[in-house]
Amino acid sequence: MKKIFWLFLFLFFVGHLTSASAHTDRYREVNGKEQTISIRLFNSYNISSINFFHVSGDYSVYGDSIKLFEADDISFISVLLAGDSVLLQKSNFSGKFRSVRFVPVAAASSFKIKSVQPDYKIRTYDDELQISTQFKSLRIINRVDIEKYVAGVVQWEVGTNNPQEFNKVKTIVCRTYALGNWRRHEDEGFQLCDEVHCQVFKGKTFSQNIDRAAFETSEYILVDDSARIITAAFYSNCGGQTMNSEDVWSKSVLCLRSVNDTFCLRRANAVWEKRIPKDLWLDYIKTKYNYPVNDSLQVRKVLSFDQPNRKVYLLNDDYFIPLKFVREDMKLKSTFFTIREEGENVLFTGRGFGHGVGLCQEGAKRMAELGYSYIKILNYYYANIHLIRFSQLDFFKAE
Ligand SMILES: [Zn+2]
Ligand SMILES: [Zn+2]
Repeated sequence: MKKIFWLFLFLFFVGHLTSASAHTDRYREVNGKEQTISIRLFNSYNISSINFFHVSGDYSVYGDSIKLFEADDISFISVLLAGDSVLLQKSNFSGKFRSVRFVPVAAASSFKIKSVQPDYKIRTYDDELQISTQFKSLRIINRVDIEKYVAGVVQWEVGTNNPQEFNKVKTIVCRTYALGNWRRHEDEGFQLCDEVHCQVFKGKTFSQNIDRAAFETSEYILVDDSARIITAAFYSNCGGQTMNSEDVWSKSVLCLRSVNDTFCLRRANAVWEKRIPKDLWLDYIKTKYNYPVNDSLQVRKVLSFDQPNRKVYLLNDDYFIPLKFVREDMKLKSTFFTIREEGENVLFTGRGFGHGVGLCQEGAKRMAELGYSYIKILNYYYANIHLIRFSQLDFFKAE
């Protein structure tokens, strides 16, 4: 099974290598082979008109499989929805096609894309743009070098002002997450969408540091003892203790174990408070869990609750109340909270922000500030992990 898995992943990349257009960049030159990933842009939006602007490198424009012309620096090219076809227009050209491709022919090619209908902000991307139609919308796909994709995701997720070891942690986590999930949209003809469902990707990074972090950790992903890509879960702040995976999701995963974390304790999302009217709180547990809110002894249990260490349940007796559902229903930042009665309200005093499984971002960032290496940080939040490069795939295949 393991062999089949690695062979499959290997074929995925080799497949892209053989079908790729003849262009290279500094990442591919270093690694000796092309690694691209197809991301659907504006995934859940109905786009009917965009403009393409050439930024750097050279682009050949194809209608179906026929090369039409080179994109120049002077004028933009319009791409419009026309029934089931794509209408391509520029100053001296107009034509309808099933699909249109903007294929880079030089190193470091990038373009801007402006959604005109609906009107969205201009975005900048690297590498290839493919446009066809689907469900009365333009289907816009960016086929991009995976390291550039990873760098773009890191910028949109955590911004540009972070210590470099943290940037490296994030690039490895994003790359692992992307490759662990790359079959999500396979039936739709691309690997990942550009939204939270996969990872938010609104364009290339403009940070040299993030670019360098992706380059320096190029190809690295996290695998477990069986050489399977791990679920590289992360969130903002654990509040001092991370969670076992089975306590939040149904599955127990060996690399997602609870650890105590003092690094995130004084960070932005370390503590929170929320007040909820007492009536509303009691009504909620009565309605959802059939809780006896007229029994004063029982009521006391849900008006005064502590968890010096993380618990999984608010109550785990006749009234089975998992904290993760309370968090979801009451829209709380975490499940790591205490409850106190405060006049007509109940006061939730909480720690952390997010589900608490895997990497605590604010803790990881603090570790990086204190001088820990990205390897130490990853090993702190994920148990029993190994870093491997794709160039090691042959090694795993031969096992
Ligand atoms: Zn998706
Ligand atoms: Zn933490």
